[in-house]
Amino acid sequence: MKKTVLLILSFLLFAIFLNAQTKINVVVIGAHPDDCDNDAGGTAILLAKAGHNVLFVSVTNGDAGHYEKGGGALAKIRRAEAQEAGKRFGVKYVVLDNHDGELMPTLDIRLNIIRAIRQWNADIVIGPRPNDYHPDHRNTAVLIQDAAYMVIVPNIAPDTPPLKKNPLFLYTEDGFQKPTPFQPDVAVDITTVFDQKIYAMSAHESQFFEWLPWTSGKLDQVPKTEADRLKWLAEWRSPGINDKVKESLTKWYGNEKASQAKYAEAFEICEYGGRPTDEEIKKLFPFFN
Ligand SMILES: [Zn+2]
Repeated sequence: MKKTVLLILSFLLFAIFLNAQTKINVVVIGAHPDDCDNDAGGTAILLAKAGHNVLFVSVTNGDAGHYEKGGGALAKIRRAEAQEAGKRFGVKYVVLDNHDGELMPTLDIRLNIIRAIRQWNADIVIGPRPNDYHPDHRNTAVLIQDAAYMVIVPNIAPDTPPLKKNPLFLYTEDGFQKPTPFQPDVAVDITTVFDQKIYAMSAHESQFFEWLPWTSGKLDQVPKTEADRLKWLAEWRSPGINDKVKESLTKWYGNEKASQAKYAEAFEICEYGGRPTDEEIKKLFPFFN
């Protein structure tokens, strides 16, 4: 009897160990509370649904993103919106307390990003490219690039144990052409979770239904009911799949599945992080198989 209990116990422990080994830990970093959502939200939902661990980090608190609200009061609204979005995505959402529109790639913030990546034991880190119209986006990209490699150096931020391995660092998609256009090395078919992505994004009410329509002169077009708003946001935030992304989808999913994809998120491999083989990438994105 005792032997059977011991056997079952050791089997359970082994199963827990195996499970811990196969969890993929992902950190998505954006400049503002809503950037991670927009650029990698569908991929985050797919990973979270499969039981993996996803963390969203907004490097600024978003306290400049409105036409009539601002400062601490706006930061409070945006923190609450991010928490609600995190629940809807199935991820943990952390908003750092740096001013919006004034972000600089300082050593202090770099060290905090290194700590966050280490504490999450990241296998993948996702963030913007350093070519972008918004200085906060550019400086977030610099902060992430400066954290790559340093996350394995024990004497940097020695209060937080270093990672054993440099994670895969990925850039999110953008349309900027200079100095080099975005290259979709990895593309994820998010068709099955697109509606959930839009619903989760809509938690950022102050952004998608107030600030961003205001900046593009279409505040008067924002629908009133929740159902109409979701439809409107989906139409606004669903760019088609371009030829290069289609090519990448075909590489990872095969012709048939790629041709059925309606929505995708694409990523470019950053040269400063780990450089996995195609086989290793397939393990990090288990839905490719
Ligand atoms: Zn932004």
